Amino acid sequence: MPRRFPYGPVHRCPRCGDPVDPLQAGERDGGCRRDACRREARARRLAHEDDGERRRRSEGAARLRARGENPGAGPWTVVPANDAGPVPLAPTARADFRRHLRRVLADLEATGPSPPEWGSVGGAGTPGTDEAAAIARACATCRGWCCRRGGTHAFLDARSLERVILRDPTSTTDDIEAAYLAHLGATHLEGGCVFQGPAGCRLPRDLRSDTCNDWLCPDLRAQRARWTEGGESPDDTRFVAVPAAGSLKKS
Ligand code: SF4
Ligand code: SF4
Ligand SMILES: [Zn+2]
Repeated sequence: MPRRFPYGPVHRCPRCGDPVDPLQAGERDGGCRRDACRREARARRLAHEDDGERRRRSEGAARLRARGENPGAGPWTVVPANDAGPVPLAPTARADFRRHLRRVLADLEATGPSPPEWGSVGGAGTPGTDEAAAIARACATCRGWCCRRGGTHAFLDARSLERVILRDPTSTTDDIEAAYLAHLGATHLEGGCVFQGPAGCRLPRDLRSDTCNDWLCPDLRAQRARWTEGGESPDDTRFVAVPAAGSLKKS
């Protein structure tokens, strides 16, 4: 006789069939916390992700052939695809960005700078010139899928603004605000960051947040590993934009 939990019908683990207290479930699908069941759930999840990536790769090969290129002739990788078009930048978005910037600057003024952290962006993981050029080509091909999350904050946080202040410690809060506002355009890509223009980010690199300067999406992280460990050449690598796995139809 299965044990009944006081707040609902018996829920069973989809793998071993044992009753599971819904509040104690170990997996998103309500599976139990038993090691063997969790291992199986993880294996299923990874197989599903692999399947999605295989479909993206085969779609990428088809798109290369469609543009007259041989997928077998040298390295290439898929990157995400942002198909948003330009729309006018709403005055409220501009005001929201200004409010965000002012708030972070005011917090910085109140707490004071933290010099030991200054200038520590980059480090061992910083891409070389050839990698940086290839990454720029990749992001231009993708058209900034990840910048869709920049919203009206552009990922600008205290640490990034400390770096900006340090460039010219005599600059005032008004100077910094003016420097940022000068780079807002009349348009941005629909649903994207306030600085995301049709030709890419409107901010110069040194005004971008540390997140923007350091971030690489999973496609580019995997490709970087193939440059450093797999012997592929950044200069020769081709990029093809294919929408993220969840948005491709099964073939
Ligand atoms: S990091 Fe990845 S998702 Fe972001 S713009 Fe570059 S290729 Fe696109
Ligand atoms: S500031 Fe530039 S790089 Fe950063 S999210 Fe916005 S558009 Fe993208
Ligand atoms: Zn189970």
